[in-house]
Amino acid sequence: NPLLQVDAIQKTYVTGGNAFHALDGVSFTIDHGEFVGIMGPSGAGKSTLLNVLATIDTPTNGDILVDGENIAKLEEEALSDFRRDHLGFIFQDYNLLDSLTVRENILLPLAVTKTPVDETRSRVDALAKRFGITAILDQYPYQISGGQKQRTAVCRALISNPKLIFADEPTGALDSKSATDLLQTLAGLNEAETTIMMVTHDAYAASFCRRVLYIQDGRLSKELIRGTTSRDA
Ligand code: ADP
Ligand code: ADP
Repeated sequence: NPLLQVDAIQKTYVTGGNAFHALDGVSFTIDHGEFVGIMGPSGAGKSTLLNVLATIDTPTNGDILVDGENIAKLEEEALSDFRRDHLGFIFQDYNLLDSLTVRENILLPLAVTKTPVDETRSRVDALAKRFGITAILDQYPYQISGGQKQRTAVCRALISNPKLIFADEPTGALDSKSATDLLQTLAGLNEAETTIMMVTHDAYAASFCRRVLYIQDGRLSKELIRGTTSRDA
């Protein structure tokens, strides 16, 4: 069965008596292990879609099944448990906290869990080793380079062993070398079975995705599967 099943999602904003459908009946499924890009013009609804799928926002109508469980119907507390246990996030500006060390930033998603300290310590150490940031674990974000911040953000996204990673314009603020590093890292994670959904404006970033969904005016307008021709949705 698919990892993610999105069924007739609507997100409606009402302003001054007018209803505006930021998402207007979006449906698709994502299988385990896919690396999916989401593209489309500014204002099309990409961030809204990603936020709804990432449980940061709730849809007005429609269902979202993750491994068969309908998360569109969960209460806030169950949602935050779900988010913490199953999802990882990578954002354009990293969202690292300057008042915390690199180690503490990586541990942030586990802050409210009862994961034993020994276990969290060994998880951070293993991730830091894998991404080459062991030497800076006790430093603060303002003391490290852009590339190190990026790798810190990747480690934080991975600390809970998420089955699904959401990336919102992850290369938007990066020079081309750092962007390539990040995209290769995501591709490597994907090869190791992590499912990834990435919103991007950048054709180069999208070229790392095997499948790209195009959103226009709150609807799925087109889908491209690499190695085949594109087709209208
Ligand atoms: P994209 O990420 O593709 O640029 P967004 O998902 O950010 O697009 O926005 C889609 C549309 O929904 C835009 O027209 C935006 O103005 C509108 N929108 C987003 N958030 C709100 C909100 N809180 N209230 C009203 N309209 C919103
Ligand atoms: P965009 O402007 O492209 O929509 P943002 O960086 O503003 O992207 O993030 C979108 C939303 O995600 C915001 O509401 C933000 O508070 C929330 N957010 C950011 N980082 C995290 C995180 N690590 N975990 C959960 N929610 C987050």
